[in-house]
Amino acid sequence: MTKELWSLEIKAPKKDYDPVLGLLALNINYGWEEKEVDETSIQFLVHNESGVFLEELLEMIMAHCPMAIGTLTKIENTDFLSSWKEFFTPVSCGNNFVILPPWLKEENFPDRSKIIIEPKSAFGTGHHATTTLCLEALDELIISDRLPKTGTFLDLGCGTGILGIAAALAGLSGFCVDIDPLAVANARENASLNHASAALKIVEGSIDAVKGLQFDLILANILAEPLIQMACAITSSLAEGGCIILSGILEKQAESVIDAFINCSMPQPLKLVSGEWCALVWS
Ligand code: SAH
Repeated sequence: MTKELWSLEIKAPKKDYDPVLGLLALNINYGWEEKEVDETSIQFLVHNESGVFLEELLEMIMAHCPMAIGTLTKIENTDFLSSWKEFFTPVSCGNNFVILPPWLKEENFPDRSKIIIEPKSAFGTGHHATTTLCLEALDELIISDRLPKTGTFLDLGCGTGILGIAAALAGLSGFCVDIDPLAVANARENASLNHASAALKIVEGSIDAVKGLQFDLILANILAEPLIQMACAITSSLAEGGCIILSGILEKQAESVIDAFINCSMPQPLKLVSGEWCALVWS
């Protein structure tokens, strides 16, 4: 497939690393390259078939980080698909998981459970801190034996299905739900790629789709505001002694999410932080 391909090189001071990374993570779900230029600056390289998209991305980054310098270049006659694939790199999370696209599934990662994710428009390829924080928290719960071996889970806002698939690989079974039909279709495809379809019911909807059911584990990587709104519906879907992992929360929003869950009778959670993002864990 021959298409137009553009590359955007962004050079930024190291102090701007977190904001640039946050903006890339929110806008690019297929990965980018990072390298240290010198002691004070860092370079990011992003590819896309739309130069306009990259121009807008650069404007957004420069609005937050005025010291960033961007260079946009058109790459002629490129096999876009294979170039793009080069940037979708494996992501290792916690001690146990590695996330791979289907074309790298034969790669050898001894002692890690492989999660195969076909990157489409749904969020959740492992390249975003909120997803990796959830997988790290899940890994901790598994290692510390906090989850019943054949327990049940809810992955609320499943995107690609990545968190539900990880829970299924750990022996649990449960529901993946998402309000976005494209995410539901992608999660079904990924469940099948991971031979996890039997352990996963993948449903379009939100917390109401599982009304009346209770789970040993609830994973919800959405955003602070919807999590606050759904706090009591989430806690009433939790089985006694169950665990909750929440993310999609900027660290500065953590207190308001914690307050909402404390108002729904939960104790103080553990907070895990990565850059400007955090996850809250009730174990
Ligand atoms: N679980 C994946 C994807 C997170 S992105 C991961 O951890 O990487 C958040 C997802 O939540 C999106 O797919 C979005 O469509 C979905 N979402 C947003 N609000 C929702 C709601 N109120 N109920 C259910 N899903 C929601």
